[in-house]
Amino acid sequence: MKLYDVIIIGGGLAGLTAAIDLKKCDCSVLVIEKNTYPNHKVCGEYVSNEVKPYLEYLGVNLNSADIIAIDTLQMSTTSGKRIETGLPLGGFGISRYVFDNLLYKNALALGVEFVFDSAVNTSFNEDIFEITLASKEIYTSKIAIGAFGKRSSLDKKLHREFIQQKSPWLGVKCHYEFPDFPTNVVALHNFSGGYGGLSKTEDGSVNFCYLTSFKSFKEFNSIEAFNKKVVAKNPFLGDFLRSATPKFKNPLSIAQISFERKKAVENHLLMCGDSAGLIHPLCGNGMAMAIHSAKIASTCITDYLRSPNPDRKKLEQSYAFRWRKEFAGRLRMGRAIQKMLMNETASNLAIATIAQSEKILQSMIKRTHGNPILV
Ligand SMILES: Cc1cc2nc3c(=O)[nH]c(=O)nc-3n(C[C@H](O)[C@H](O)[C@H](O)COP(=O)(O)OP(=O)(O)OC[C@H]3O[C@@H](n4cnc5c(N)ncnc54)[C@H](O)[C@@H]3O)c2cc1C
Repeated sequence: MKLYDVIIIGGGLAGLTAAIDLKKCDCSVLVIEKNTYPNHKVCGEYVSNEVKPYLEYLGVNLNSADIIAIDTLQMSTTSGKRIETGLPLGGFGISRYVFDNLLYKNALALGVEFVFDSAVNTSFNEDIFEITLASKEIYTSKIAIGAFGKRSSLDKKLHREFIQQKSPWLGVKCHYEFPDFPTNVVALHNFSGGYGGLSKTEDGSVNFCYLTSFKSFKEFNSIEAFNKKVVAKNPFLGDFLRSATPKFKNPLSIAQISFERKKAVENHLLMCGDSAGLIHPLCGNGMAMAIHSAKIASTCITDYLRSPNPDRKKLEQSYAFRWRKEFAGRLRMGRAIQKMLMNETASNLAIATIAQSEKILQSMIKRTHGNPILV
């Protein structure tokens, strides 16, 4: 049986970026991904420019994907009070359909191997990982990365703490035809129990993605009814939903989104991206963090594999330390925002306050974003 240097479970942004980086460092890499590419994912699809230098260094040509440059943030309260501010670093709009597929194509071209199946178990014995798939096939490696996203059956297998708790958040996303939406803007509009983000993607579609509490949603028996009765009460979202034409037959949705603390290393797996911790989507930084965590993991892993005396404990401690140093502050801020949003009165008040003060908004952006990833 082939012993890979690295097996990566989950081929989203974190897994694919780590695969490209590690392969460029001459590691043998296998990615196990349960879905084929391309596919749509529930996501706001606004990416911070933090990731650009690193992706360029990896040879990923974002311009080939016609990304949309975004430099302005708009925000509005439930009643339609609006504020606009410049994004210090800016970002870009790209659909996950295109972004994940672009990284997949880059990884394939470099010689990364892929298996399309669900990983159902992981074990670690005598310094070797064994990853079992739903098909019962088993793959082995020296190092394994968990990049299986915010919630996976593997989290249960690993008895991770966060999975024991129910999470009250639900995400909904759909692309729309709406040519009038400004190209350089990402907009965040509050509604009772949640908020929605709007921004353009590479083909000119407007992505509308919202997060809402299950408590608000459960009174309505469909997304359509919820959109009409709750979401559209925000005047901006009301205008948008009345004028825009949906491009998906049905919106995509996901439930049980958790923002609880997670460990960066679990059962010797180095956790990357949302598997290590999901920042509140209002911060618009989850994708950048996923990509950045892949860089940290790749650096730690190549140091380990090249060392004449590889020390696994040191590898795990070093990864966890670097991960915390980079992301703990942003996640703390994200969790504070999430707590505030759990309380409707507090959340309406806070968003109204933020939406009236450009200074507060700029400070919030600063505390939830990083600097360009250095290479
Ligand atoms: C509503 C919402 C809006 C958001 N908006 C934004 C935004 O505008 N900007 C931003 O930067 N971030 C945003 N985020 C966050 C962002 O989507 C995530 O942080 C990012 O997708 C994390 O990437 P990842 O690679 O860790 O996980 P994912 O992209 O979720 O990839 C995980 C992969 O693992 C695979 N997988 C899972 N289990 C298994 C298994 N057992 N075996 C094999 N494969 C498996 C999945 O199929 C998936 O492809 C948003 C999140 C939500 C919920």
